[in-house]
Amino acid sequence: MDTAGVAAALGLEPWRLEGALKRKTVFHVRDFQPPYLVFKKDVSHVERGTAVFLGEGITAVRGFPKIRRAFYLEPMVEASFGREVAVEEKMNGYNVRAFSMDGRVLAVTRGGYVCPYTTSKLAPLLEEFLAGHDYVVCGEAVGTENPYAVHRYPEAGGFAFFVFDLREKATGRALPVRERNRLLEDYGIPAVRLFGIYPREVCAREVFAILEDLASEDREGVVLKDPEMTLPPIKYTTSRTNTSDLRYAFRFPYDYGRDFFFSRIIREGYQAVEMEEDDAALRERARRLGESILLPMVETIRRVRAGENAEEEHRVRVGSLEELEALLEHLRQMGVECVLGEVWEEGEDYVAEIRRQKFRSSDKIRANLGLER
Ligand code: ATP
Ligand code: MG
Repeated sequence: MDTAGVAAALGLEPWRLEGALKRKTVFHVRDFQPPYLVFKKDVSHVERGTAVFLGEGITAVRGFPKIRRAFYLEPMVEASFGREVAVEEKMNGYNVRAFSMDGRVLAVTRGGYVCPYTTSKLAPLLEEFLAGHDYVVCGEAVGTENPYAVHRYPEAGGFAFFVFDLREKATGRALPVRERNRLLEDYGIPAVRLFGIYPREVCAREVFAILEDLASEDREGVVLKDPEMTLPPIKYTTSRTNTSDLRYAFRFPYDYGRDFFFSRIIREGYQAVEMEEDDAALRERARRLGESILLPMVETIRRVRAGENAEEEHRVRVGSLEELEALLEHLRQMGVECVLGEVWEEGEDYVAEIRRQKFRSSDKIRANLGLER
């Protein structure tokens, strides 16, 4: 492997990369053509999720940066942006970076691994654009048919992709919002909804109005961005999103980090204060919050007591059984334990049910209930 070349492509000192390879902080995926490196943690300024393909040349794709969350919106907007703020919809799916490598479209998920399922869905949509523009197309894959994050969007159906960034491969630098949208429009590639570009002073107020509509449609929230994309963005979600995340995660209480729960509970406190809620609204929030914690937990404990496993159901749609096999193999490599359920034909497609196993939760609950495995 050309370690010096890879280090140079990322602006890293070679000894740092060598050290990271030895510690397996950077993982060498050898059973893919071409082989590639995945950054499992940050290495100096290079983010987790960065992937470097060792093909005809070296193709480095920088990790997608973490987006800071606002708990209490207004002062954070004041402190974080310039004259104007772009307010975009935050969609609830999974993060994808698609790009062209040796003339081929590839799609990686947040951690930096190539996902064969997502690649075959996105290649037709992005081929023409990527042939002419050497960007990383960052977007959210959403819908009800994927093995990762299921959320129903009327405009998405089973699978859809909405772009939120066009970035330079090696540096990760993003195009300004307006320029990004102009370019995407030229190619008929869907972008996430842009609600508007507002003067900073009125932005928080606009956001609370937008959130009301989003909540009523069960949509996640917003991401606030500097229109020039030179300042870091901020995310903010509806209360309904916070509680539905909790309802979901408390189905598998031992499979999520404690931070996941804590952060979502805390958000509710700040939001109630910033929205100046009266006693009735506050009690209503408390009821929703409590239910989102307790009800799913009770359901799962009952399920395990009845001898079932804690598991998460997904549905995928593929063009061939080889594609399905490749996806299952990929999930196994990611350390995801899954059981293939029913598979059936629908027109040209195969539809399959995949049940992701939540062993930590199943085992721990079984043990606490005094049941044998
Ligand atoms: P992070 O690691 O950034 O904290 P996370 O994995 O906890 O994120 P989220 O809380 O969903 O994920 O928030 C960030 C993610 O939101 C992004 O990685 C991206 O996939 C997604 N996203 C959806 N819509 C947008 C948008 N309009 N702009 C930027 N990101 C968006
Ligand atoms: Mg998300």
